[in-house]
Amino acid sequence: MNSNTLRLPLPDDFHIHLRQDAGLAGYAQDAASQFGRVLVMPNILPPVTDPQQLMEYQRQIEAAAPGLQALMTFKLNAKYSSHDLVALKAAGAVAGKYYPAGVTTNSQDGIGDFESVLPVVAEMERLGLVLCLHGEEPGAFCLDREKEFLKHVHALVAKFPRLKIVLEHLSTRDAVEAVQALPATVSATITVHHLLFTLDDLIGDGLMPHHFCKPLLKRPEDRDALRMAAFSGNPKFFLGTDSAPHLRGKKECPCGAAGVYSAPVAIPLLVQIFEEANALDKLADYVAGFGADFYGIPRTSRELVLERSEWFVPMEVHGVVPLAAGKTLGWTIKV
Ligand SMILES: [Zn+2]
Repeated sequence: MNSNTLRLPLPDDFHIHLRQDAGLAGYAQDAASQFGRVLVMPNILPPVTDPQQLMEYQRQIEAAAPGLQALMTFKLNAKYSSHDLVALKAAGAVAGKYYPAGVTTNSQDGIGDFESVLPVVAEMERLGLVLCLHGEEPGAFCLDREKEFLKHVHALVAKFPRLKIVLEHLSTRDAVEAVQALPATVSATITVHHLLFTLDDLIGDGLMPHHFCKPLLKRPEDRDALRMAAFSGNPKFFLGTDSAPHLRGKKECPCGAAGVYSAPVAIPLLVQIFEEANALDKLADYVAGFGADFYGIPRTSRELVLERSEWFVPMEVHGVVPLAAGKTLGWTIKV
């Protein structure tokens, strides 16, 4: 590599929202500009809960963005039988996603009583399905929701020692420390925006609706802990962007939706973040190694090449304001 070219294994995104209907094709193509494989979250309407629907959604995504491989999830609820889970796995599901009730987009039908899903989780452990957790405690104060949820992770690990658990989109030092201390069956994703921002970037000056996400951005020391985890080379921490497109009008309104659209810019931004921290040597495993290892899928043999040249991020993509809109980045993906 010369210092003006960066060759990376083609990244995997282990947490993405691609929506459905009219938006899907554009969002999937944006993802394909950065990633070879994406773990697609199931919180569309209606949510992904049955095998036919899961296969059809996967087909739509891969047809819209040739070259992009969609790894599929289903939305966890207490109603699945063992037979249902076997059928979902046979249809290609790699993980089930746990949403507590009401904490994020389309989670009104999420889980209120944690205990109620434990029989389903036991079956997921038996079948080798990964449990992805949106780790926020619904009733808690908004800045404490992640910390308050950690007790459930400890309880799950104690009860299901072979269950693979991913605590999604970490936002606090407490969560980083918990994941570090828990066994190797527990790993975590970290988004680009949680590496970049603190609560100041949302409300410290003017209100910045396009930085509004769940879990909320936190304190500088939380961001520092997330960065240290991402730069550490600890295989428990890997990329899941939680890229979540909402049309501009859904963000710039009296009750704006939570979500940051990072898919179009994720990798050039991460290169910049890791380079500034002198951690570029840790980037390949973070974006294209540890996640695949954890999910038990082969590391990619494809490549992404970036050039050190200025790239102006558009103010809007498919009607959505992307992360870093209007900014000039120092790296460009070579097509
Ligand atoms: Zn998400």
